[in-house]
Amino acid sequence: MAALHPIPQWFTGSDYTYRVAAAIAQYGPVARTTLASLLRLSQGALSRITSDLLYEGVIEELAPPEASAGRLPHAFAPKPGARHRGRPQTALAIRGDAKTFIGIKVQAKSAIGTAVNAHGEIVSGRHERRFNDQSPAAVVSCLAALAADCAQDTIDAGLPSPTAIGVSLAGHIERDAIVTFSPFLHWEHPVDLAELITEAAGLPTGIFNDIDSLLMDACWFGSGVGLNAFAIITMGVGVGYSLAMHGKPVDCPDKSYGLAGHIPLDPDGPRCGSGHIGCAQCLTTDSIAQEYSQMIGHEASFSDFERDARAGTSLATRLVSRTCFRLGTMIAIVANLAMPETIMIAGETAFIATLATDSVRDGINRYRHSQSAPVHFEIAKHDWQLWAKAAGTRVLIRHISPLE
Ligand SMILES: [Zn+2]
Repeated sequence: MAALHPIPQWFTGSDYTYRVAAAIAQYGPVARTTLASLLRLSQGALSRITSDLLYEGVIEELAPPEASAGRLPHAFAPKPGARHRGRPQTALAIRGDAKTFIGIKVQAKSAIGTAVNAHGEIVSGRHERRFNDQSPAAVVSCLAALAADCAQDTIDAGLPSPTAIGVSLAGHIERDAIVTFSPFLHWEHPVDLAELITEAAGLPTGIFNDIDSLLMDACWFGSGVGLNAFAIITMGVGVGYSLAMHGKPVDCPDKSYGLAGHIPLDPDGPRCGSGHIGCAQCLTTDSIAQEYSQMIGHEASFSDFERDARAGTSLATRLVSRTCFRLGTMIAIVANLAMPETIMIAGETAFIATLATDSVRDGINRYRHSQSAPVHFEIAKHDWQLWAKAAGTRVLIRHISPLE
């Protein structure tokens, strides 16, 4: 279904033009020969397309010394000798400073904004504003002010003023515009947030699910580039999960309703609000704080647990390793069923996994065949500005993709 308020396109062209631009964005700086064999295009066909993109100012040619290899798909090996035949090859890259975009991550009471360039790199400070209440009007005026903060940064840096705004939030969004469900904003009716922000901020706006945005950002500009399948598990106030196949999130109408939130993980785990024993809710901040309170015999908050865990007190350490084993179980379930090449663990409490990585491994191994390959997982450093950046890269990706 078409977006209601489409993000403008940087250029128009055939499907191949978009595929070439996407490959340059993901793998650049990349040599023409590599690009041609990657996309199975003849040198001639590729050259016609790259000439158009050079002419439009979308890509640039880098001299050989700077043309160090970008990233390439894991299974892809450039033809031997192809790089060194004839004169040294230049490499193609997206013109990073040609465009900027604003990314905003909406939380329950505030929002964080940042600007990114056409490489999906942060080019502004981190801005945060609180909203007075959770009404759409209050949220929109807060977001418009944040967008102005970020736009000012791009001007101060001598960069082009932003092309579009990407907003991400937890919940369900239709046609990149209408928020139909948001667990933290509690809106009773669907809200065309894209239209409201477009009016208030004067820039085309897209609204996206926050976890899918992190996933897409990783698939275009991070560790998910070139992978057939890439999954993300987030831990924090809730537990989130999303899967990308060939760089695109797997779509399912129900996915923003927390499909992975109640998967059984530990038969001896705590009971969740829905009455399950040891479901994935045991990875949430509230559940961890509650379990810790029971262990130490008095009321403790998640911050108390975090402080004790980092200090290495014995009860907190025990709960850390239990939590890591449970997370490992969840990673094994994802690895066994979805078969991604990499699983990213993100979110505000993902740091727990760094405190007892061996227990995460033990949890994974408990549910994997002894001869199966080790599961590749990585723990993302948490920073809400990176979530905001991911919202910005969503509109950048729209800007260089064909209209849907
Ligand atoms: Zn449950």
